[in-house]
Amino acid sequence: MTTMKPETLAIHAGYRKDPATNAVAVPIYQTTSYEFDSTGHAERLFSLQELGNIYTRIMNPTTAVFEERMAALEGGAAALAVSSGQAASALAILNIARAGDNVVSSTDLYGGTWNMFANTLKAMGIEVRFVDPADPEAFRRATDDQTRAYYAETLPNPKLIAFPIKEVAAIGDELGVPLIMDNTAAPVMCRPIDHGAHIVVYSTTKYVGGHGTSIGGIIIDSGRFDWEKHADRFPMLNQPDPSYHGAVWTEAVKPLGPIAYILKARVTLQRDLGASVSPFNAFQFIQGLETLPLRMREHCRNAEAVAEHLANHPAVSTVIFPGRMTGEARRRADAVFTDGYGGLVGFELAGGMEAGQRFIDALEMIYHVANIGDTRTLAIHPASTTHQQLTPEEQHAAGVTPGYVRLSVGIEHIDDILADLDQALDAATKGQARAA
Ligand SMILES: *Cc1c(COP(=O)(O)O)cnc(C)c1O
Repeated sequence: MTTMKPETLAIHAGYRKDPATNAVAVPIYQTTSYEFDSTGHAERLFSLQELGNIYTRIMNPTTAVFEERMAALEGGAAALAVSSGQAASALAILNIARAGDNVVSSTDLYGGTWNMFANTLKAMGIEVRFVDPADPEAFRRATDDQTRAYYAETLPNPKLIAFPIKEVAAIGDELGVPLIMDNTAAPVMCRPIDHGAHIVVYSTTKYVGGHGTSIGGIIIDSGRFDWEKHADRFPMLNQPDPSYHGAVWTEAVKPLGPIAYILKARVTLQRDLGASVSPFNAFQFIQGLETLPLRMREHCRNAEAVAEHLANHPAVSTVIFPGRMTGEARRRADAVFTDGYGGLVGFELAGGMEAGQRFIDALEMIYHVANIGDTRTLAIHPASTTHQQLTPEEQHAAGVTPGYVRLSVGIEHIDDILADLDQALDAATKGQARAA
């Protein structure tokens, strides 16, 4: 099954039919709990001698199909679905880092992740060291004995410069530090594990769901990081865990496969913090997944056409799109992406901040929302919205300039997308003429 192509895995991996009813569509198991067959059965489940359903905060049969399908699509060993992308990145780190530890992260991050790292994790005693991904060696220089993870996004906006996954994963392999990749903006077109990443996180709210109906996230464990070899760095996985009657996670999973990291996340963090996805949302993500490879192809195709169109428009001073980049940025994109450069396009209007806002206000079909990865084309002005809570210096480090507009190009017909862009660009430039 795992040798099948993404289009096939997205439809078939992890499920054939419902064992109870033979239903072909994955049923929504909207239940909190599961009856134990006997006291012996319950005992085996709680002691992890046998894996099975106990309580939906920790596992659910609908969610399990989504988890298995995502793990198959990413080439991972196992996955844990959670309630949001934020929960995915928070739990991915809290699973291996505690007060006194540090994480080395790329500066090019989703605004919410930046805030979590700079403030919430800091308040918990976990230091996040931000480094410029322009130089992969910066990750090595920021590493010390307390470093527990590297963190980055495959296709971070607004810069849209692909992350050097292979280079930083290799440094991590050398020093014994796992690389966590947020692949939210590049599903299917990039499989970070193929390039050496050790853990993959997603906001499934975006392309994976695709229809803009549900908030969710997922953590995928490649199963390839050798936690035992680096036992000094990862006491949380290699020393008896007092929260699970002294389980040593790297030992406990031996009969189950290389899933120490993700099993611990499920049975300790998810048990304790309860960032569970509802079975209904997991069902929505399963529906989204079935067309994800198709949709990504169309997002990429439309985005390429939009980037080209904007580049030839007199009102636009700069277009930011991986497929139009040159030099090292282009090399990085070509190293990790297949079949396109993603659905995100950034551009700067010659008229700056005010033209950017006039453009947004003039849009008719395209939605003005703080989201990406929807079937619909979406636009936002980051400086006044998603990146507003950052200081001007932090905004600059994140690549947000005052006149920058971000498009998440949808899968409508390209003619209709371009028509709405053109009329809004017209309005933006006419407004500028009036203002002058
Ligand atoms: C949206 C997003 C998140 C956060 O996901 P939520 O599901 O909104 O919590 C994290 N990373 C990236 C790249 C995102 O776009």
